[in-house]
Amino acid sequence: MPYDMPLYRPPSEAESLILQITQGCSHNKCTFCSMYKTKKFRILSEQEIEKHISWAKDYYPMARRIFLADGNALAIDSKLLKAIVKKIYNDFPNLERVTAYAGPRDILEKSETELKELRASGITMLYLGVESGSEEVLKLINKGVTAQEMIEAGQKARKAGFALSSTIILGLGGRVLRHEHAQETARVINEIGPEYLGALTLMVEDITPLASQVRRGEFLLLEPMEIIDELSGLIHNLDLRNCVFRSNHASNYLALKGTLNQDKEMLLSILNDAKKVGDKVFRPEGWRGL
Ligand code: SF4
Repeated sequence: MPYDMPLYRPPSEAESLILQITQGCSHNKCTFCSMYKTKKFRILSEQEIEKHISWAKDYYPMARRIFLADGNALAIDSKLLKAIVKKIYNDFPNLERVTAYAGPRDILEKSETELKELRASGITMLYLGVESGSEEVLKLINKGVTAQEMIEAGQKARKAGFALSSTIILGLGGRVLRHEHAQETARVINEIGPEYLGALTLMVEDITPLASQVRRGEFLLLEPMEIIDELSGLIHNLDLRNCVFRSNHASNYLALKGTLNQDKEMLLSILNDAKKVGDKVFRPEGWRGL
């Protein structure tokens, strides 16, 4: 397979053909993230991209969905990216959607016109890792943007017509910032108003800077029940219109899904029941995985 490993995609792209037109993440500094620590970011040359698309065309010509990997394909120059997307639609006659991860900086660095043109070229949805809305947490995890910049990036993408799928990470404030994390994350998500919202749960991988902070006692992990409490606080403070909410990633202790705001009470009541029953209802720790 002509992929540079490791290769990641959002869970909802499980059935998509992946085109790896970039490798790694141009930021690659988030303290909790191990995804691309073994890679140096690079945009494939036009020749390499052509070769990759041509291989993919032979391999899966009827693809309906394509995900552009790796960590932030939107870092590619807009003119080149538009040309790539145009070629992809020409080469895959059944194609219905093209999606990609987008870092907040990538969105902010493109003009409104560039974003609208990229949307018009056929990139339908962007995945934006918000992680937290807390200024302090964003700084500690080295996300590279402020909470206000995150809001601006999300709003800019939505204004340009992209559907937006955002993820946040439960437990990312640790014990010290847990309340601020839940409250401020809800505020930032409310301001962005994404169509999809996924709440993952923090899992600390050995090779990350966060793991060293945990070992040194500088970052205190939450207990599973505190994560449930944090999720309750987050959902309580969310105010969204028709946002598909999922907290059913492999990292989560409880699998939840619903639409916000409609299903807010239902989700809160499941969480309240879980608090009464205790950790018997949780997925076992060994089951959780990335
Ligand atoms: S979380 Fe996203 S932006 Fe941060 S290092 Fe990982 S891939 Fe890059």
